[in-house]
Amino acid sequence: MKSIVMDVLKDHALETGPHPPETGKWQHFTLTRDAEGIAWLLIDRNGKSANTLSAEVIEELGQIVGTLEGNLPKGLVVRSAKPSGFIAGADINEFVGAKDVGDVERTMGRANDICDRLAGLPVPSVAVIHGFCLGGGLEIALACKYRIAIDGARFAFPEIQLGLHPGLGGTARFSHLVDPRVAMERMLTGGNIDTRRAKSIGLVDVVTQERHVRNAVRDAVAGKLRTKKPGWLDGILRMDPVRRILANRMRAATKKSALPQHYPAPYALIDLFEQHGGTLSGMLAAERPSFAKLMVTQTAQNLIRVFFLGEQMKKLAGGESSIERVHVVGAGAMGGDIAAWCAYRGLTVTLADMKPEPIAATIKRAAELYRKLLKRSIDTRDALDRFIPDLKGVGVAGADLIIEAVPENLELKKKIYAGIEPRMKPGAILATNTSSIPLQELSASLVRPERFVGLHFFNPVSRMQLVEVVSHDKSAPEVLAAARAFTGQIDRKPLPVKSAPGFLVNRALTPYMLEAMVMLDEKIDKETIDAAATEFGMPMGPIELADTVGLDVCLAVADELRHYLGDVLPPAPDWLRKKVADGELGRKSGKGFYVWKDGKAQKTLGAASVSPEMTDRLILPMINVCVTCLREGIVEDADIVDGAMIFGTSFAPFRGGPIHYARTRGVQGVVAMLGNLASRHGNRFKPDAGWDTLSPR
Ligand code: NAD
Repeated sequence: MKSIVMDVLKDHALETGPHPPETGKWQHFTLTRDAEGIAWLLIDRNGKSANTLSAEVIEELGQIVGTLEGNLPKGLVVRSAKPSGFIAGADINEFVGAKDVGDVERTMGRANDICDRLAGLPVPSVAVIHGFCLGGGLEIALACKYRIAIDGARFAFPEIQLGLHPGLGGTARFSHLVDPRVAMERMLTGGNIDTRRAKSIGLVDVVTQERHVRNAVRDAVAGKLRTKKPGWLDGILRMDPVRRILANRMRAATKKSALPQHYPAPYALIDLFEQHGGTLSGMLAAERPSFAKLMVTQTAQNLIRVFFLGEQMKKLAGGESSIERVHVVGAGAMGGDIAAWCAYRGLTVTLADMKPEPIAATIKRAAELYRKLLKRSIDTRDALDRFIPDLKGVGVAGADLIIEAVPENLELKKKIYAGIEPRMKPGAILATNTSSIPLQELSASLVRPERFVGLHFFNPVSRMQLVEVVSHDKSAPEVLAAARAFTGQIDRKPLPVKSAPGFLVNRALTPYMLEAMVMLDEKIDKETIDAAATEFGMPMGPIELADTVGLDVCLAVADELRHYLGDVLPPAPDWLRKKVADGELGRKSGKGFYVWKDGKAQKTLGAASVSPEMTDRLILPMINVCVTCLREGIVEDADIVDGAMIFGTSFAPFRGGPIHYARTRGVQGVVAMLGNLASRHGNRFKPDAGWDTLSPR
């Protein structure tokens, strides 16, 4: 009975053709013909909530195409039976560990032949797309003659984020269907295309509602769909000399964010377009070897690793969060943005400060952020409605979670807790955003220290995905679990850490920035120092990073950490103190090490050439700290350290994380280099004892 009810409901949700569908023949598909002779091919990957394309799924698709070739229907509909969407892309698990270009090319060759045969069926084929249609899924849709999108469908080619480009004919079919500049831009950035845009660029032919699917399919099969005619300009843009000009422009734009030696995929895609984009068949043939070559690069394998690390970290958030109301104390750079982000994510938020001005400034910033992130003005209004200025702090009493983000001062924070704790409702959680004060000290006078936890966000909150969830010797497991779940609720990745100076991320970043100060004292040019880090793959050099974070903040964290950790860190130089005292705070004051204009550091020279030792002096101490944190049990797992450093500091993602980098380079070699640096530059480089027990894999 229940299944009949479910079936009826399902019919209302998705138009899936005639019923009952033929079952049992294939594991992942059903195929039926309706009274009009139209075949309905439904993909429903067995045992998974979303469709992905595994080798087995592709193999079955090949058999089905064979069946259709032997007994042609009047038309073919390809759609997903999963409510979650069309196809979420290739099964990335099958990309892990690829080493042999020939093997990859053969596998891709078989899959491409199937796609080509699907595209070559001499009947009108129609992909009906709802929800996500990504990567290989979009390539299957592109192999159909027509695409009907259900309103709300979203399209993307995210391969570039994995160090790849589309490999199932997508580069050719997409850039020959729409304006090639638009196609290339979307494939080079991996960005989403919403339904409306998909229609306007000609990626889909029709946007409709579920209830009109049958009629739309009928029209498509009868050749009655009004499709967008390819523009005359598109053809010119694919011509030889124009392609070359476009390719050069794309290369120049790509170089600003990704160097070819670090990220070869965008350059391979541009080459493919430049050399073979003139014809569909030429580009189809050339895509396969290009894709296979990328798949076995360390960059692709490491970026695939990063994808899985991200998934692993999301899982650390655990179950559902029951937090509905958040109260934030301190409307500064961090508190204001944390509050704004929580309201954006649907929570009701009250924001307190000792003065009204920072609250007003925060609301203004939040409105700008919401307008950028939210398409509909009604959603911006709703988010602002959830965000309540609360100068008197009345929100404390009703809050499930209170986040303190006042200046980094032990006594001040303790005084604030003394005022808040008696007013908290039973079961509420008190959290601090402290960067460096041990939670044991902060919680010393609390009546319920077990309900106290660290939630250490990174700046800027709306972009940094990591939140360190800090435990201390008295924290209750259920409070930590609730704090982790809260990070998942606001779409952030939790890093469980034990309270220790600087936790993981600041502890690792501080030697990176302080070593740069030592190098400045050695009269090495600041731009050269920054280049030593960016050439390694860091998104920003340590000097520019210090300016971005704020020299006052850096100095405070450096002093605090040296106070706890001693000589493993070089002392902050006196001239840095003077700079801070003079108000040269970096980006926020317009001048620090660099002069800042329109949010950009003004660089003058091309940097002088960088020596490998300079890079090692900046990078290896960071990795050394990661090893210390593992040995001290501050973080439990080396993979999680890698994920945290990537999502918290943007540590060169294509290197797969600091520990992974050390293992790839060879642990012994890294330890020897640290020893060498220690003998020449000082004990701060001394390899941590934890290297001895770090497994080489
Ligand atoms: P900030 O100086 O920008 O803001 C602090 C806010 O607290 C100010 O608006 C101030 O008016 C308010 N305040 C001061 N005393 C108060 C009181 N008694 N009651 C209510 N409000 C009061 O500081 P910030 O940079 O946002 O840092 C806040 C916390 O976050 C610190 O613990 C810092 O270590 C931590 N943190 C900072 C960063 C960063 O990059 N700035 C990153 C992570 C964590």
